[in-house]
Amino acid sequence: MSIETADVVIIGGAVMGSSIACQLAQRSDFDGRIIVVEADPAYEICASARSAASIRQQFSSAINIEISLFGIEYLRTIGERLEVNGTKPVIDLHEGGYLFLAIPEKEDILRSNHALQQELGADIAFFDREALKSRFPWLNVEDIAAGCHGLSGEGWFDGYGLMQAFRRKARSLGVTYVAAKATEIRREGAAWTVRMSNGEALACGALVNCAGASGGSDICRMAGVEVPVHSRKRCVFTFDCRETLANFPLLIDPNGTYVRPEGTGFICGVSPTPDEDPDSTDFDVDYSLFEETIWPTLATRVPAFEAVRPGQAWAGHYDMNLFDHNAFIGDVPGIENFYLALGFSGHGLQQAPAVGRGIAELIATGRYETLDLSPLGFDRLARNKPLLERNVV
Ligand SMILES: Cc1cc2nc3c(=O)[nH]c(=O)nc-3n(C[C@H](O)[C@H](O)[C@H](O)COP(=O)(O)OP(=O)(O)OC[C@H]3O[C@@H](n4cnc5c(N)ncnc54)[C@H](O)[C@@H]3O)c2cc1C
Repeated sequence: MSIETADVVIIGGAVMGSSIACQLAQRSDFDGRIIVVEADPAYEICASARSAASIRQQFSSAINIEISLFGIEYLRTIGERLEVNGTKPVIDLHEGGYLFLAIPEKEDILRSNHALQQELGADIAFFDREALKSRFPWLNVEDIAAGCHGLSGEGWFDGYGLMQAFRRKARSLGVTYVAAKATEIRREGAAWTVRMSNGEALACGALVNCAGASGGSDICRMAGVEVPVHSRKRCVFTFDCRETLANFPLLIDPNGTYVRPEGTGFICGVSPTPDEDPDSTDFDVDYSLFEETIWPTLATRVPAFEAVRPGQAWAGHYDMNLFDHNAFIGDVPGIENFYLALGFSGHGLQQAPAVGRGIAELIATGRYETLDLSPLGFDRLARNKPLLERNVV
């Protein structure tokens, strides 16, 4: 068995691993060798390829809002940031906004979230029922007290394109991608050894776990740490609607059902109720979610959706952090040179730019230089201090 050496090994080379690799390689103060180990180089099953690929500022926690404010800035300027040999990546960013709706009992939560979002500089408007009706005439607001709409800075994009843009840029800067599964990790003295499914091994100073829903918890276990990150299936359904609905945003119904335009049609989904949301690794689409929850909700909320033509559907997996629905980012107390970017619970694609930058800073300089990501540190689990996010989609 041959052992190759690197300064940094990243396990998982989808959007998060590639963002970290790329932004570390872009730093002028880091000239170490970076190797990314990716078990599925065709990216068929990773969340990054199966995502709804949307970005919002409408979170309830400051750190998530700040991460997405950087995220949108990054996506708007991706052409300059990730150009390779004169070719600029295109990710079709469409800033159509999210529209969160609240029933009267939840209006105060919407108001307090909105106040925080505005304070941090997010461009979110608060609309009462009448204002909603005149702005979105196709919307049924009978049971709705108010809604918040992202006027800019929120929308959707080509998520697969973002992942590939990071990967291409990383490779152009000398990052090596190895197509193999990391099967064992071990700390030996000051170095980590990573054994792989191809029979080879890597030795490195720093190890980053970006293995997502399919492998993140296993990699942690190999390092001797248990994380409450579970693989939870989420299904996305497509449909066409005959009517043209102007200025359609990414609409979130009070019951959690979401829908947004995609091409000439729409995509939609909903999280299962907690008692019907077991750990899962299969990709079987649960069509009962569409028939029993999503379609009745949408047909009530947008009467034009009473007559839709269902299309294709697919399933992917959230790396769901059951502790508080937020990611674990950064180092792990007691385990030297082991970094996590895991547990994104459905919002990791939009967080990839800021998290990639943050982990790159941490590895290169030992601290966060721009945005302090320590509120998402793993130590909050030991302190039993969840960072609860109220706007989980
Ligand atoms: C249906 C759905 C809708 C979503 N919608 C949104 C959205 O609108 N907005 C948003 O921001 N986020 C959304 N997300 C979440 C987002 O897609 C994820 O948070 C993000 O893609 C996570 O990226 P990642 O690189 O951490 O993990 P992944 O994309 O899962 O990648 C992990 C990679 O690690 C590899 N791997 C695993 N184990 C090993 C191992 N042992 N050795 C080597 N490689 C390994 C895997 O092959 C995989 O490629 C959605 C997710 C789903 C499933």
